[in-house]
Amino acid sequence: MTVLGPDAVSGRKEKTDHPLRTKRAGFTERDHLYMKEALEEAQKALAHGDVPVGAVIVRKGRIIGRGHNRREADQDVTAHAEILALREAGAYDGGWRLEGAVLYVTLEPCPMCAAAIVQAKMAQVIYGVDDPRLGAAGSLLNLLQFPGFHHDVAIRSGLEAEACSNLLKDFFIEKR
Ligand code: ZN
Repeated sequence: MTVLGPDAVSGRKEKTDHPLRTKRAGFTERDHLYMKEALEEAQKALAHGDVPVGAVIVRKGRIIGRGHNRREADQDVTAHAEILALREAGAYDGGWRLEGAVLYVTLEPCPMCAAAIVQAKMAQVIYGVDDPRLGAAGSLLNLLQFPGFHHDVAIRSGLEAEACSNLLKDFFIEKR
């Protein structure tokens, strides 16, 4: 089932529950840059009272999709940052297949988004903070690397974790 070894993903081996799931692997400057773009997207959600989650999709060094959570703004339960970024990326060069693409998202994807990411055949998800409540990249369950699926998505986490988490914390403190 596993196509890539852990070395192919992170450059070093770490003890994890799946060979394609690595924590705090050596992120590049570009990784940080893309996550900062995702954080900027997340900020936009605040303007309409949505939980600040943002995502960008990168392929061949280019951002081809962006999204931020618009569930409240659109009264649409599917309007998660990842889904909106996937839609934009699909329209970008005329294809829903996103082989080789990497999704940067501030919060661990939920089961709905994880399933969409698998169906788009994306190469990798890099996220900021874990979501113990709903995370489908290993926290609650791991749909990105589900044994029955025919496609595995590599996972890395902890990129810009503090910034991603502070944004969420501030939002929920203000809501109280
Ligand atoms: Zn989601």
